[in-house]
Amino acid sequence: ADRKRRAAAVIEEVESSLATPTALLRSIADAMVTEMERGLRGDIHAQLKMLISYVDNLPTGDEHGLFYALDLGGTNFRVLRVQLGGREKRVVKQQYEEVSIPPHLMVGTSMELFDFIAAALAKFVDSEGEDFHLPEGRQRELGFTFSFPVNQTSISSGTLIKWTKGFSVNGMVGEDVVSELSKAMERQGLDMKVTALVNDTVGTLAGGRYMDNDVVAAVILGTGTNAAYVEHANAIPKWTGLLPKSGNMVINTEWGSFKSDKLPLSEYDKAMDFESLNPGEQIYEKLISGMYLGEIVRRILLKLAHDASLFGDVVPPKLEQPFVLRTPDMSAMHHDSSHDLKILGAKLKDIVGVADTSLEVRYITRHICDLVAERGARLAAAGIYSILKKVGRDKVPTNGSKMPRTVIALDGGLYEHYKKFSSCVEATLTDLLGEEASSSVVAKLANDGSGIGAALLAASHSQYA
Ligand code: ADP
Ligand code: MG
Repeated sequence: ADRKRRAAAVIEEVESSLATPTALLRSIADAMVTEMERGLRGDIHAQLKMLISYVDNLPTGDEHGLFYALDLGGTNFRVLRVQLGGREKRVVKQQYEEVSIPPHLMVGTSMELFDFIAAALAKFVDSEGEDFHLPEGRQRELGFTFSFPVNQTSISSGTLIKWTKGFSVNGMVGEDVVSELSKAMERQGLDMKVTALVNDTVGTLAGGRYMDNDVVAAVILGTGTNAAYVEHANAIPKWTGLLPKSGNMVINTEWGSFKSDKLPLSEYDKAMDFESLNPGEQIYEKLISGMYLGEIVRRILLKLAHDASLFGDVVPPKLEQPFVLRTPDMSAMHHDSSHDLKILGAKLKDIVGVADTSLEVRYITRHICDLVAERGARLAAAGIYSILKKVGRDKVPTNGSKMPRTVIALDGGLYEHYKKFSSCVEATLTDLLGEEASSSVVAKLANDGSGIGAALLAASHSQYA
């Protein structure tokens, strides 16, 4: 009975420190809009960097030819080739391959990382079949999706600001990522030109727009989280160049670095942040994204094991190990709807090493997954809502005109595979928008849109265009 009381006390404390009432989400969204405006002014202390992408035109559908794309930004990287057939034929053929990045390369030297990537790309190019056509005398061209914050200096160049998501490769911060890749391709004897360097959010936005003309923003919920959207060029005070003809500029918000006293940070989040590779940074991302959710659950379960002997008299040693509980496992446990939660029980046995767990312990575990996932999803929805506010698509126009259809392209393993998470994002967004406005807003899965998006941007910025 004493154990139960102590468990209940911990759970109650967790519930209150993770709570995200709708009023709080609204004030978080307001704070995000304020930070976006600061970032657009170029305030060096702005938390949202609001990076200029140099993409002032999104794909039209007329793109044609053979293009490659390379996507680096998480645990895997993807290479892709696509034969574009213009307005009529669209995507004629596409092929891709996924390669996992050996963990030691994520924290090694830039030369090792880029040599590995360029070698995989060269091998992929070698397998190009008859269905793909490169006109005589032309160089192959590539769109490079690089999902880390970059100070873009043109559409095809930019320097790394910092690593995130568990990457910490030496000697890269401040370096031009395209020239690093190009040098590695040369070392491989691969003749290819990078014509577009894009963030994955920007790639997803481009891919999304190609599929649906009403896409105005893209959000990634994967290993990390970030968003990009179409801004009016004259709403970007820090942009000092000529105004683009289109009047628009795609902005990579880098919203993962958002931080505010309003964010519901628990002791578990603070401890995780403190022990991370980048303490004090990417706080919003650490509450939302796939790299971290399972780890937060683990920390809460560990507290329950210590304070309320949740898994018996001894604390299971495996539970002490950072990151043993991965978000896909958390998702599997959370979705267990069997009457005796046997999937969850098997996962606990597998991951934590406790063979027999009572039904009550399983219920508690599922409840913790629910609390952590719900907070993440609701905060992500507040972010989307803030972008809609920023572009004036959060409510029906007061002048009586109809609210235009507004599509948000979403991608990332977390959004794609964690159903309870994605449903909660959508439900919360509907709640924040209200009935009328939400009927014009659509969240759409843009499955691997960033690959095709980068290839499309490589096409529109081709040296032969
Ligand atoms: P990245 O963000 O690394 O470019 P993805 O978009 O494929 O790659 O996202 C991968 C991330 O998605 C994983 O790190 C994991 O956190 C999350 N994820 C993948 N599968 C699942 C799942 N079944 N349930 C919950 N999260 C998942
Ligand atoms: Mg990705």
